[in-house]
Amino acid sequence: MATIFSKIVAGEIPSYKVAEDEQFYAFLDINPLAKGHTLVIPKREVDYFFDLTDEEIAAMQVFAKKVAAGIKKAFPCIKVGQAVLGLEVPHAHIHLVPMQSERDMLFTNQKLKLTQEEFEDIAKRINEFL
Ligand code: AMP
Repeated sequence: MATIFSKIVAGEIPSYKVAEDEQFYAFLDINPLAKGHTLVIPKREVDYFFDLTDEEIAAMQVFAKKVAAGIKKAFPCIKVGQAVLGLEVPHAHIHLVPMQSERDMLFTNQKLKLTQEEFEDIAKRINEFL
C-alpha cells in the first residue's frame, strides 16, 4: 500500500509543493516547527532513510542543499537545520528547518498553526528563490 507521501507525490493528496525533480519532491510540513519547515522525500518508496542507496542519499542531499538555500533566502535565519526522524511516516524524509536558535530543532516543541493562505505564501516564497 502506498505511503501518504507517495500519495502526495502522485497528487492524490494535496501538498504545498516547494520543489521537485525526477527523483525527489519537497513540500511544507503541515505541522511546522518554524515557517519554512520543509520535507524532502525520494519518490521511490523506502521507509528507513539509511536503506536508500548510496547514490540516492548523495543525490537527495544535493537536492536538499538547493532547497535549504531557497529556505534561507526566503526565511532569513542563522542556519537551516536538517534532521531525519521517520518515526511517524514510513517513507524516508529529511526535515529542513530554518533556525534562529538550537531550540527550533526540538521536535517536541509546539507546532505552528498556519492557514492555507500562509502555507501557500511560504511555499511560493521559497520556490521563488530556487
Ligand atoms: P517523522 O516521521 O517523525 O519524521 O514525522 C513526519 C512528519 O511529516 C511530521 O512532521 C508531520 O507533521 C509531517 N506530515 C505528516 N503528514 C503530512 C502531510 N500530509 N503533509 C505534510 N506533512 C506531513
